Amino acid sequence: MAVLKVLTYGDPVLRQPTEKVHKVSAKIQKLVADMFDTMYAQNGVGLAAPQVGVLKKIFVLDCTTEDNVLPKMVFINPTLVRKSGAILSREGCLSFPDVFTEVKRYDTVTVRYMDISGKPREMTVEGGGLLCRAIQHEFDHLEGVLFVDHVVNQAEADQQLKEHHLPPIDPTFIKEEPDLDKVLMGN
Ligand code: ZN
Repeated sequence: MAVLKVLTYGDPVLRQPTEKVHKVSAKIQKLVADMFDTMYAQNGVGLAAPQVGVLKKIFVLDCTTEDNVLPKMVFINPTLVRKSGAILSREGCLSFPDVFTEVKRYDTVTVRYMDISGKPREMTVEGGGLLCRAIQHEFDHLEGVLFVDHVVNQAEADQQLKEHHLPPIDPTFIKEEPDLDKVLMGN
């Protein structure tokens, strides 16, 4: 059990791709336990392995809220096999301390993954709730994608980044998301 150092925005490791986990070894189980310790120590709802400097396809979540009690979850080698709808989501990230900005997300996703015992699982989350958005946020980390790449108001986000002494948004990373734009503009 250990609280690990969380890398902050600007660290190049956060932009690197990750490798699949071949076996849920004791070492991986220890890493996952440390990731939960780190996430809870920072009051986060999710944490991905690259944020603690490990380039493997693993993320952890605890999306329990006052109205919705959920188990803590581990996602190993996740893939998003279906996504639809669109919503705006105000998000933060443990790698961006105290920065919150609105981003575009799908409101329904299906994720295929392996759990901590190595068992294959599939889950569909509808309605754009916290769990649905957190899965997309943490999945992105495994691809070197950060939440600000889905930004709605770049100027507002840049102002916050500046106030917190973080680098500005790099426009070359901003995603073109015509499928999300189409739904969002129809609302
Ligand atoms: Zn994050």
